[in-house]
Order: sequence, then C-alpha cells, then structure tokens
Amino acid sequence: MPAVSRRAFLRSGFLLPALLAAHGGIVAVATPVWAGNRPRRPRVYTRSDWEAEPPRSKAEVLDRAPDRLVVHHTATANTGPADLEAAFRLSRSIQRYHMRRNGWEDIGEQFTVSRGGYVMEGRNRSLPAVEAGRHVLGAQAADHNDHTLGIETEGTYTSLLPPARQLSALTTLLAWLCDAYDLDPHEAIVGHRDLNRTACPGDRLYAYLPRLRDDVARRLGGRGSGRDEPPPPRLALTDDYEGVALIRDLPYEHGPAVGPHDLSR
Ligand SMILES: [Zn+2]
Repeated sequence: MPAVSRRAFLRSGFLLPALLAAHGGIVAVATPVWAGNRPRRPRVYTRSDWEAEPPRSKAEVLDRAPDRLVVHHTATANTGPADLEAAFRLSRSIQRYHMRRNGWEDIGEQFTVSRGGYVMEGRNRSLPAVEAGRHVLGAQAADHNDHTLGIETEGTYTSLLPPARQLSALTTLLAWLCDAYDLDPHEAIVGHRDLNRTACPGDRLYAYLPRLRDDVARRLGGRGSGRDEPPPPRLALTDDYEGVALIRDLPYEHGPAVGPHDLSR
C-alpha cells in the first residue's frame, strides 16, 4: 500500500460520508473521526486590512510547499501599544523599511505576529498561496528563500520570551501552516540562526523552539512526536553578507535576508 500523507488521509476522511451517500449507503458517521486533529485556522489580517502599499511587482508563487518555517524576531522594542492598530502600524512600517530602505519589491516576510497576538499577511499573495499549498518567494532568510517561509515575531527576544498572547498566536499560525503544507513540526520549524549567521530570533525565543515544536505537534494530533529529543535542525549556514544585513541594533535588522543565490528581493 503506498504511503498516504496525513493531508490526503484527512481529505479521504472528509470525502467518505459523501461517497457513501452517493452510493446509497448509510452514513453512520456524521463527523469524520479525524476532524478533531485539524488545527484551528488563525485569523490572519490581510494586506488590505493593514492598508499595505501596492508591491513593486507581484510575488513569484512557486508550485510547491516550503520545507522550513523560519521564526524571526523584528529587533524592535518590547514596549508600546499592542492593540490591533499598533499591529497594522507595525506591518506598514516594516513594509516601508523593506521597500524604501532595502529596495525590495515588497515586505520581505510572509507573515507577521504582533506582540498583541495579531497575525498579518506579509508579502503579497502569501495567504492564497498557503491555501493552495504553494510557496510565495519572500525575502527573509538569505539564500534559503526558495524553500522557506518566514514569520516575523515583533520584539527582541535575546533575554525575554514573547508575551503569552504572541506565543499562542505563533503556535496557532505554525500549526495551521504545518497542516496546510503537510510538514513535521520537528523538522520544519527553525530559527533564522539555523540558516544564516545571526542572533535572530534571540537566545530566549530560539531556546523556546523545541517547546514550540512539541506544542505544534500536539495540535496536529501528535504527529512528529515520540522522539526522545528532537535534533536541532541543521542546514548549511551561509556566510555573512555585506550591506544592510550587517547593521546591528537597528529596528527590522535581524540578519541576512537576501543573498547572492536568491531569485527574489
Ligand atoms: Zn531573522
């Protein structure tokens, strides 16, 4: 019997009652037994919600899923308002910075999670791409943009953990993405420092990633759990790059986001 992915299995679960009904069978199970294992879809505020500027160009959508979900911090202050309007302001200012200062086509990351726990779509076409199981080429992890999706976690997490609401939103978002892309959280969830030479997403948030992977695995019904200790994901570290990515202590500068081998910016 060929291996069946969790997603295909779930889909077959949802189809079964309809198939039985179509063939005159008695539908004994009203709710698919696997339905409880599907993680909740987070509320994602769209670009029109936060009043994004139009991108310079349409993002490229690759006909495949990413294999890594990269957790970043924004290297911004852990203070100030954390309401919805502040979250929208954050997305607008990151976009302005990425387009005007860095000269990119649009905001770099695919998703942003505010300190208040609000989730915003980032680069254009990101949300429909996830729903279609595809990957929007972003600008967030140098030389790894063609296979990774980036999440910016507002704040600086070198000595503090994100607030509970923000961690909860990040967990929900990651669970939804792992489900949509059929990814094992223990392999897929990485920190920016696993890919580039950078302190991002901060020592405290980075040290929290094993717990985050476990929490996401639980929301997926235990998939990926059962290992004694998840090995730290190791991909080839890329070298430092010249330019804005090396400027320290500036908001929004959390490490190399675009490298010579990337197709996008
Ligand atoms: Zn980063």
